[in-house]
Formats: sequence, C-alpha cells, structure tokens
Amino acid sequence: MSSGTRPGVVEGERRVPRPGMDWSAYEPIAAEERLPPDEVVTIEVDTGRAMRVPQGHIFRLTCPEGAQVADVCIFNADDPTERLWANQTLNREGAYVSTGSRLWSTMPHFRPLATIVADTVRARTDPTDTPHHIVLGAHCNPWMWLLATGRDDHPNCYDHLCMAVDEVGIDRALIHDNVNFFQKTRIDTATYQYVTQIPDVAAGDFVELYAELPLVVAVSVCPMGSGRFRAESGRRDPKRLVASVHPTAYRPPPFAYPPPEPLAASSHTRREASD
Ligand SMILES: [Zn+2]
Repeated sequence: MSSGTRPGVVEGERRVPRPGMDWSAYEPIAAEERLPPDEVVTIEVDTGRAMRVPQGHIFRLTCPEGAQVADVCIFNADDPTERLWANQTLNREGAYVSTGSRLWSTMPHFRPLATIVADTVRARTDPTDTPHHIVLGAHCNPWMWLLATGRDDHPNCYDHLCMAVDEVGIDRALIHDNVNFFQKTRIDTATYQYVTQIPDVAAGDFVELYAELPLVVAVSVCPMGSGRFRAESGRRDPKRLVASVHPTAYRPPPFAYPPPEPLAASSHTRREASD
C-alpha cells in the first residue's frame, strides 16, 4: 500500500523517525502499586520548587485542588547542561505528551530523560478533543505579564523556575524548555495562534514521570492557573500543586542508538531515504 492511501498520511510527507521503544519494559512500572514517597513537596501558589529524582524513581505531579498548569523543566542532575529539548520532543513524540511519551534531552546526548508512565487526565478526555500536556508553550515571564497587565511585578513562571533552580544550585541560565503539564491548548488553524482552553483536569489528577537518568525536576505553579482566563483580563485562578518522589523496583532499560552502518555499504540507501 502506498503511503498516500493511508488515512491521515499525505503523499510526500515525512515523519521524524522515532527510536524503537519496548513498552513491555514499562508496563510493570506503570502497573505496580506506588511505594510510599521518599519526599513530598507542596508547591504553593505563585512559587516554584525543584526536586531531585533518583534514576529509576517516579516523579508524580498532582493537582490536588483542580486544574492548574505546571511549567516543568527537567535536568540531568549530574550535568544540568543536559536538559529537556522541547522541540525535538515535539518532533519525536508529537506536540502533546502522555503515557508512553519520552521526554528527550539536548545535544550532544539527545536521549530520554524521562518516560511518562501515568496520566490520569487522558481518561477523562474525549479522544477527538484538544489534548493536554503540550511541549510548545514555553513559560510565562515578567515581560509577557508587563505587556498584558502593565505591571512589572506580576508573578510569572520564569521567576518561579529561578526560585526552583536556586534551591538546588542549578544556573538560572539553563532555564529554557519546558512541558506545560495540565494545560489544554490548541493551535488555531486560521491564525496559527496558540489558544488555551479550560482543562479537563479534576482534583486529584496526576502525571507520573519515570526517571531514566538522575534528574532534577523544577516546577512552576503558573500564575495563570488553569489557563481559562486571558492574561489581560486581570482574572486568574492559581492553585497549589503537590510533587512526590517514589522508589520503584525497576532499573531503566538501557537506551542506545544503533551503531552506524558502514558508509560504503549503505550510502545509496541513505541517499534515497533522505531525498
Ligand atoms: Zn506561567
């Protein structure tokens, strides 16, 4: 069958290859009853916090009081210059992440930092509806709020993420990409603008990240709250978040790229594949 005859695939389109993933290695991690947490942190409104997540542990982020957007940065704890790369996560996983998605790191490594093993929001969402947990959104900052409200002292995710990384001694200059967990967002097809919607998040909903490497996870409680109000409206509904770190019985499955094929044997095939 040619690709043009498959629904949803347009002739001539190309998709970025995604390294194979053996979900069966993650099924027991996703399914096992969570062990009591090593650490629990409540992240209050208009603040940010960072947590260390040992390799093979679970980082759970919960909305205890209902929908609250979390702007989350992820770093390799041993070398925080290796951190989440949102654009390449989009290329490999799609713009939205959920159970089974991997969150990819920056060059020169470009490997999974974490794998999402639980997302209770998904079960509540109509599959044809706008998804949650987007990697396109970046974080709000003082300049964005200044334009929207005329205030130069408005709470914002950049300041919260600075608070968070200060807590663990990571350079503020390394704050860049993030995932917007619990945010329901679409791209308007007429204007290509980024449009937030009221999330389908209920009190108690959570996502869980399985740490492929030793991680630091920095979380901002977005001052926008659920994202249901425009920043210019002066209205917002922020709520606290709860983060917890749980041990598991499982070590991460090894991740490695396949060794390069000898150029002489494969150059013709490669050229064709990249046409
Ligand atoms: Zn924000």
